[in-house]
Amino acid sequence: MNEIVLASANKKKIAELKDLLKDVSVLSLNDIGFHQEIEEPFFTFNENAFQKANTIHQFCGKNVLADDSGICIQALDNAPGVLSSRFAGHGATDQDNLDKVLFQLKDKTDRRAYYKAVLCLIWNGAVHYFEGDCHGILIDTPIGTNGFGYDPIFVPDGYTESFAQLDSSIKQQISHRAKAMQQLLHFINSTQ
Ligand code: IMP
Repeated sequence: MNEIVLASANKKKIAELKDLLKDVSVLSLNDIGFHQEIEEPFFTFNENAFQKANTIHQFCGKNVLADDSGICIQALDNAPGVLSSRFAGHGATDQDNLDKVLFQLKDKTDRRAYYKAVLCLIWNGAVHYFEGDCHGILIDTPIGTNGFGYDPIFVPDGYTESFAQLDSSIKQQISHRAKAMQQLLHFINSTQ
């Protein structure tokens, strides 16, 4: 079975990726003994995803998958984007970030937003990128307990409930990460 290291410390993200990578043996950063924080200093998802994947590949020499993702909000000129996990500052919680978004959207009528995910795969030493997005609207009142991050205020197009209310199996079919993962799985299967 193919082996891959997931270059993420976000437990919810790892759970989503693991669930999608059913036929691959998945190793965590803990499994390979990597315990440092990886900086994400760049202003594009691709560069940050590569930074994470390459740091881990240099450390262990194995196949690595890294994801950089975020939410882009139309009324905020596509912010917070790559800064999604620290929109309210370093060490901000999901709740802090979500509160800041709702505060900035208070007087805005345009509620369109999309999640974007870029996966960087280092596979047998070569670098590959896979992208996915998921469009929807942002609601005023957070609702639901599934998912993470901005899910309690994000209602995907075609649905009336937030990502945090919808069953996780639906998110695993239509999310930005799921769409990027479908392409990645297609690639991995085509190399076997
Ligand atoms: P990263 O770990 O630097 O890629 O940060 C991604 C951040 O984007 C997360 O901490 C969330 O704030 C947000 N994000 C990305 N994907 C999702 C998702 O599926 N649901 C909710 N928030 C997400």
